[in-house]
Amino acid sequence: MNNPFPYSEDNKRYYTWSHYLKTKYKNKVFKVALNANFTCPNRDGTCGVGGCTFCSSYGSGDTIEDKFEPLDVQYESNLKIMQHKWPKGNAIAYFQAYTNTYGSVKQVSEMLKPFLFKDEIVAISLATRADCLSDEMIEYLDFVSRKKDIWIELGLQTTNDKIAKSLNRGHDYQCFLETVERLSKTNLKICVHLMNSLPGESKEDMIQNAYKVGQLPIHAIKIHMLYILKDTVLGKSYLQHPFPMLDKDDYIDVVVSQLEVLPKHIIIQRLTGDGMRGEQIGSEWMFKKTIVLNDIDKAMVARNTWQGKVLETK
Ligand code: SF4
Repeated sequence: MNNPFPYSEDNKRYYTWSHYLKTKYKNKVFKVALNANFTCPNRDGTCGVGGCTFCSSYGSGDTIEDKFEPLDVQYESNLKIMQHKWPKGNAIAYFQAYTNTYGSVKQVSEMLKPFLFKDEIVAISLATRADCLSDEMIEYLDFVSRKKDIWIELGLQTTNDKIAKSLNRGHDYQCFLETVERLSKTNLKICVHLMNSLPGESKEDMIQNAYKVGQLPIHAIKIHMLYILKDTVLGKSYLQHPFPMLDKDDYIDVVVSQLEVLPKHIIIQRLTGDGMRGEQIGSEWMFKKTIVLNDIDKAMVARNTWQGKVLETK
């Protein structure tokens, strides 16, 4: 069989996010990242303190422009930046920092309300955790999805509870599975985040993470390297006790193998992340995102492989 992803616009061998967006909305769609100033249950003492060991004090929202401004100001200024490049593009309001469903339904509905009536917004994306989605919250978000598409971005990072515990994640894989099951009965779209190169995980473990998640009723996945930031628990411990990190070639090798075990219908939202120059320890190659993505394409051609290929032969 030949590559089943011969998209003329990007010539990738996997189901790209850009292809999904172009096909669905018939327009350029970009994300506008926002910080709604929530916290996380593993920061405020509910199930831990200090947050995930790799996470900065900005709760994964380090790169958001104007992150301390009110939400409407953040949105307008970030939208302007994106519209400078794509004046007629549509937006996804991306609540990126912290856990955006860690509050009451009233709080979340007040946060979302202004964004439900903006014409340029085609979807809303909420970064959150599996342990912060009550039935009531899911029911509310499902209701809202009649107005705008709603993506629930679940940070999982690993399916291995021991490693999740060592990262102070504060919830386990079973909790994640139960939440995915509840979400799958709604119109909400599920995107799962996985992180490669976590301390203690082998290449095979990383591939298994992708395989296991790919068997679930999810719509999309984001994969990226672990970023070790200086001013984090993990960063401080890494400087005392370094552990092996994937280099660029290893990372590409793992990602291609992960794509091979992901079913073809799963959208690949990202295969690289945004590091923090000056804040990050090592792995400088990660800043060259275009090179990494091109090298993933080249490796797929060299291996004559594509997303889901291994599943076809099982
Ligand atoms: S749940 Fe997300 S935002 Fe919260 S500490 Fe962990 S990685 Fe950071």
